[in-house]
Amino acid sequence: MDLVLNVADHYVLTPYVYPASWPEDGTLRQIISLLVLTNLGAAILYLGLGAISYFLVFDHKLMKHPHFLENQVQREIKYAMTSLPWISLPTVALFFAEVRGYSKLYDAVDESPLGWPGLFLSMISFLFFTDMCIYWIHRFLHHKLIYKFFHKPHHIWKIPTPFASHAFHPVDGFLQGLPYHIYPFFFPLHKVLYLGLYVFVNIWTISIHDGDYRVPSSLISVINGSAHHTDHHLFFDYNYGQYFTLWDRLGGSYRHPSALMGKGPHNLIRKLQAEGKLGDNGGKTKGSVMLKEE
Ligand SMILES: [Zn+2]
Ligand SMILES: [Zn+2]
Repeated sequence: MDLVLNVADHYVLTPYVYPASWPEDGTLRQIISLLVLTNLGAAILYLGLGAISYFLVFDHKLMKHPHFLENQVQREIKYAMTSLPWISLPTVALFFAEVRGYSKLYDAVDESPLGWPGLFLSMISFLFFTDMCIYWIHRFLHHKLIYKFFHKPHHIWKIPTPFASHAFHPVDGFLQGLPYHIYPFFFPLHKVLYLGLYVFVNIWTISIHDGDYRVPSSLISVINGSAHHTDHHLFFDYNYGQYFTLWDRLGGSYRHPSALMGKGPHNLIRKLQAEGKLGDNGGKTKGSVMLKEE
């Protein structure tokens, strides 16, 4: 984060925003700057990448699904944009610790314990570490004693759009993002690689909500894609993972995606259309039956 902070200080904040008397390394100044940059960055990533995915990838036919809510896209965006500032508060505390040098982030490849191969290894370990942590945090959030307090809002969207990707209760959003932020306090990581991974995890989170259920056949059993995560939204106790199916398999919660077995949301929409239970404009016809996911 200090890379972003330094660039913002150099080009914008020092010449145009803060009084010259306020040193760049002032505690309050750094915290204010981090809060603004974190909120701006999160909003740009979420809205920008979400919009690209919504217009170019998301299959709009899914909006005809009986479980797709009225004004769902607006509601997802509103919920996410209300939560992000709250999520940013504890996140900025961790970014501040990072900027103050308490993490194991480093600037140059020379500082990597293993050189270039070290960067590659840290990329792999970042993905496996965060995938494992998110799996268990996500399962913990599904525990019946706490589910309704924090994680339930993310399950309102049974047929999610890319904008559901960040639509979490603030506690839920922070806890599921925590593995990304604590990784560099435990393991060495190049700063530029960290920024790249940060963008990547945002893209991935959007991609598992984008309604594009295709997965290369050789990877179906390994990668937790949109088809897998849609089954999590529909059937609840399965596919808690983020990138891989590894922990769902180890934890006994793996479910082969129904969309890949001809029993997914598209199949249901086609069936209902054939039965005349969906209006021409995609709206549900009056008196449509309660629908069981198959
Ligand atoms: Zn869940
Ligand atoms: Zn989700």
